Parts: sequence; C-alpha cells; structure tokens
Amino acid sequence: MNIPEHAAKALLENAGIRVPAGTVADSPQGTARAAARLGPVMVKAQVPVGGRGKSGGVRLARSPAEAHAVAGDLLGSRIDRHRVTGVLVEERVRVAGELYAAVLNHPAGPARRVVLSERGGVDIEDTARTDPGSIRTLDIDPRTGLRPEAARQLAAQTGLDRAAPAVADVLVRMDRLHRDSDAQLLEVNPLAITDAGDVVALDCKLVIDGAAAVRQPSLAAFAAPEPLTELERAARELGLQFVELDGEVGVLANGAGLTMTTMDVIRHLGGRPANFLEIGGDAYTKARPALEIVLAQRGLRSLVVNFCGAFARTDVMVGGLTVAWAELQPDVPAFFTIDGTGAAAARRMLRERLGLEPYPTMDEAIAAAISAAAQDPG
Ligand code: GDP
Ligand code: MN
Repeated sequence: MNIPEHAAKALLENAGIRVPAGTVADSPQGTARAAARLGPVMVKAQVPVGGRGKSGGVRLARSPAEAHAVAGDLLGSRIDRHRVTGVLVEERVRVAGELYAAVLNHPAGPARRVVLSERGGVDIEDTARTDPGSIRTLDIDPRTGLRPEAARQLAAQTGLDRAAPAVADVLVRMDRLHRDSDAQLLEVNPLAITDAGDVVALDCKLVIDGAAAVRQPSLAAFAAPEPLTELERAARELGLQFVELDGEVGVLANGAGLTMTTMDVIRHLGGRPANFLEIGGDAYTKARPALEIVLAQRGLRSLVVNFCGAFARTDVMVGGLTVAWAELQPDVPAFFTIDGTGAAAARRMLRERLGLEPYPTMDEAIAAAISAAAQDPG
C-alpha cells in the first residue's frame, strides 16, 4: 500500500521529524490562497510515482499568482498513468545539502536495514550505479531497533559534521515509524540540510505491507488504489492476476514465482517483458481469456509460454491452451518451454496439435523470443 506524500509527511511530523509547512489543494484558487499564507512555495503533484522533479511535477512558485498558474498546469494533467487531482503546496526550503535516507525491510531476513547517502535528490538506483561507495547501510536488530550511537556512527561515516546529530536523530525516528506502521519502505529523498542547519524531510515515500491493513486501518484508508488499464480491469473481472508493462515480450506462465522469474530472465537477457500474467491452476479453464488479454497488449512482438508442473500438470495446462490457441490462431511468434509433471505428454501435444517445437530450457526459449521481438516486422 502506497501512502501519499502529504499523508506520509503528517506521519513524519508526528514522529518528530521536521517537514515543510504546507497543505493540500485541489484547485488553482486553493493553491494561490496557500501561497499567500506560506510565501514562496513548491507545488507538488500528488501522484504515487517518483521522478516528479524531472518530469515537471514539482515546481517553484514565488507568488500567489505564479502558484495559481502552476497549479492550473498540473491539475488535470497526467504523470505516468496517473491523473493529477491534488497538489501539495509547501513553503520553499532553502537547501544547503541533500541526503538520501531510508529504512526498509532487509531483503533476506526479518530485520530492518537503514540506508544513508550524501547523494540525495537523485534516484538511489542511479547512485548505486555511479557512486556505490556513497551508500552506507546498517542492519538493525529488530529487538532493539536502531540505537542512537549506531545512528550517529552512520551519520559520521557519511561525512556529516555539524548536522550529524540531527541526521542521526531523524534516522532513529524513521526506524521507529517504520516499525510502528508495519512499513516495507520508508524513504526520505531528499532529506535536506537547510541554510540554517536544520534537517527537513522534503519528500517521503511510505509503503505499508498490504498484509498489515487490518492492523493499520487508518493508514489503509489513505492507500491509493493503483489505477488499472482497460486490460487490467478486464483481467481482474476474470479473476486473473495481470499487470500490463511497456515491453515487447509477452509472458504466459503458471504461478506467480515462475512468472516473475520469466520476467527477470527476459530482463537479464536484454529484453523487456510486456506483462505479468499468472494463470496458475486456472490455466485449463481460463486459457482462452488469458491468451486474449496477452495478445491484446499494445507493443507485443513475441510471446514466451513457460509452464512448470509440480502438483499442477503441464499436460493439462497445455491441453487447455492448445484449444484456445486453435480458436484464436494468434500470429505472434511464440516460444514454449515446458518442464516437470506431465512434460513429455505436454510437449507431444504441442507438436501434434500446433506444430510447435518447445525449447529444451527456459533460457533458450526466452533468448529466441527476445530476438524475434527485435526482428523488423516487415
Ligand atoms: P520526486 O522527484 O518525485 O522524488 O519529488 P521530490 O519531492 O523529491 O522533489 C524533487 C526535487 O525538488 C528534490 O529532489 C529537491 O531537489 C527539489 N525540492 C523539493 N522541495 C524543495 C524545496 O522546498 N526547496 C528546494 N530548494 N528544493 C526542493
Ligand atoms: Mn524525491
């Protein structure tokens, strides 16, 4: 569950972390009124994506008239696939330095991890590529939480002199907030050091574990539902888990894990997945609508079908899929890979009914699908 920036900042403030004074507005008039009260302001589109600064979604307005104009521009516009229905209007902060600070779930265990970098205001993924040495992490014993001495040490390693104690204090408070809100990620980027030497959270991304919704009803109420594409809505109605992406290689696989692995390998081998679609145990009964949805995607150039059977039988999955295939007669190049329970019968069925030869391994099928996607369709 993604918590919107303005709501996340209220939580930071409650936790004793400074945030710029501000308010949410949904009209140019409201934005101008807020600017009249606050002075020069930053007007920030409230959409649940990062990189708004780069895409023009975070703008400075020096006067109420400018704030009015900027809000008129932003409200109703689209950033990514999100329509801007509200802006956060905040006092402009004079920034001397920008840090990156985050508390996240440890990728490999039950602990939390604190991340601090002197390179704030840019994506941490970019920093990881350009200057990994500037990223410092500390794993926390969840029984004690982040201890102040440990936080001070981390801040000192980051080369913060005068601001180190205040930054350390923010980290300790972030760690507590992360724990108390059942968060997966609490990211403050940038955490600004102001001209006056104060430490202020200029942006906040807070993601709450969806499974904690029952424990966090007040946060769950804030969580912005992801807007769905038309195909995603159709899939949802059929009970299919489908996410549309912007790549060229379609994915049809059984089970969420295998589907994600397939997407990862497509990426790893230099391609871009067009979707996530898990057809799991319903492959047999939902093969036709599932196939229809995958084929309807814009930008689709090839298709990987990856079935792996354990309890579920791949011959049953392929049985269902070949019927749908014969009905729909797709002309997209398709690359099958089938393993596990029932694979021998499934492969035979694929050859006999569709005249398609499955690939011996997933990597080979995916590599072939990527090169087919790269062919000029002529
Ligand atoms: P994001 O691009 O979606 O992550 O949006 P941010 O809230 O991080 O804003 C983008 C950038 O705008 C930040 O990295 C800052 O450099 C800048 N910014 C945001 N608020 C302020 C502010 O009050 N004062 C100044 N000087 N810069 C700001
Ligand atoms: Mn940011």
